[in-house]
Amino acid sequence: MKITFLGTGTSTGIPVLGCGCEVCRSTDTRDHRLRTSALITTDTHRHILIDAGPDLRTQLLTHHNAPIDGVLVTHSHYDHVGGIDDLRTLTYPNGSDIYCRQNVNNDLHRLLPYCFNNKYYPNIPKLRLHTIEEFKLFELAGVMITPLPVKHGALDILGYRINNMAYITDATLLPTETIDAIKDIDTLVINSLRITPNPTHMNLEQSLETIRKINPRQAYLIHMSHQMGLIADTAKLLPSNVAFAYDGLTVSIPEAKHKK
Ligand SMILES: [Zn+2]
Ligand SMILES: [Zn+2]
Ligand SMILES: [Zn+2]
Repeated sequence: MKITFLGTGTSTGIPVLGCGCEVCRSTDTRDHRLRTSALITTDTHRHILIDAGPDLRTQLLTHHNAPIDGVLVTHSHYDHVGGIDDLRTLTYPNGSDIYCRQNVNNDLHRLLPYCFNNKYYPNIPKLRLHTIEEFKLFELAGVMITPLPVKHGALDILGYRINNMAYITDATLLPTETIDAIKDIDTLVINSLRITPNPTHMNLEQSLETIRKINPRQAYLIHMSHQMGLIADTAKLLPSNVAFAYDGLTVSIPEAKHKK
């Protein structure tokens, strides 16, 4: 299985519109970050998208201009769902299978009402929303997926365990049961906003503390803000098993050890 990081930036993306800081002006392409999203390619060459933010069209044109088997949604903030309508042509005529919590299902009905009522307008994206529950395993594209409860400020959102990888974005805190479910996992993807604290996203110190508790072989940081600093400088602050992900990075995940 492989993961391709389609976007690794926080909700603003980097460069931030209107900002002239050194990160936003950086010529290192690893400092340019679209909104956070990832593509999983399974061993049988099927494709799972994690989140579908407003940069989805650009991301798929660059990395995967081909069908997707399903979308795992972490939560309904715009930077994670703003591109769902763009799935329309990729999944025509069969439609898209989207997996999310019940509250996200409700939010998507409200955000994209025309998608759920084809009485007035043909050619709408066909979205099949599947409500999933914390720790209830389900199968998608031939792989088993475990939804993991995660705290995003006061909001309850989902991370996902897929084989020997866990993907967590926008977290401020992981409940003990989530940490236990992914302890010693091979690959951990986890958010880290910036150096200074923030009420709704972990800062670098909190992300590194969480990584120490989970003890993965390798961790990748995502959902960074321009306030994290230049990747060439900040990467020096990381332990040897932690790296900043960057847009377009693809990594292989070794096979699951079936330890659970
Ligand atoms: Zn976000
Ligand atoms: Zn900036
Ligand atoms: Zn969010």
